[in-house]
Amino acid sequence: MKDKGIALVISGPSGAGKGTLVKMLTQEFPNITFSVSYTTRRPRRGEKQGIDYFFVDKERFKELVERDFFAEWAQVHGNFYGTPKIEIEQRLDKGLDVIFDIDVQGARKLKQNLKDGVFVFIMPPGIEELRDRLEKRGTDSKEVVEKRLKNAKKEIDAAREFDFIVVNDILSEAYERLRCIYIAQKSRVYPDR
Ligand code: 5GP
Repeated sequence: MKDKGIALVISGPSGAGKGTLVKMLTQEFPNITFSVSYTTRRPRRGEKQGIDYFFVDKERFKELVERDFFAEWAQVHGNFYGTPKIEIEQRLDKGLDVIFDIDVQGARKLKQNLKDGVFVFIMPPGIEELRDRLEKRGTDSKEVVEKRLKNAKKEIDAAREFDFIVVNDILSEAYERLRCIYIAQKSRVYPDR
């Protein structure tokens, strides 16, 4: 029987570099598939429907919540985000690994459902560095950046709930740690599968 895939949940504050690290990992390991979330946020420049997110309006999102479509959903920085249930179990059963880029509230909810999930918190080196990154990214207004920073402080307090913490000061070093975590998980013995 083929081994089940692993669920790798990547969380942490906005601007910590989750998205970049997730992209690097999926590029290096083709067995890792990205869980594309649904969001009511507007697409940023360069973001593609169905690749980065499924962009939907609030009505549609509400409808999906009512249909119990999401494994978890949360309101993050004023927009709604949700992880679709479809496919997660199927992919894992097929031996594919699934990686999630979600906020702390979502990670907590997934922890209740994904028994063998691996939960990794990406820690920014500091609040000022985070501010700098969010401002340089240039994708959000000043007001949105402030909101994201306020939330970041709360999220950092939750880091201890995770299995691993990766500080993303120097990207190449953070990536090396993350890929080691992934490789170690792939080598683990799971007695019940
Ligand atoms: P952004 O708007 O920068 O793409 O994402 C904002 C935050 O929402 C990030 O922390 C991201 O990880 C989180 N996020 C993205 N998709 C989901 C999801 O499906 N569920 C939850 N709970 N958070 C998500």
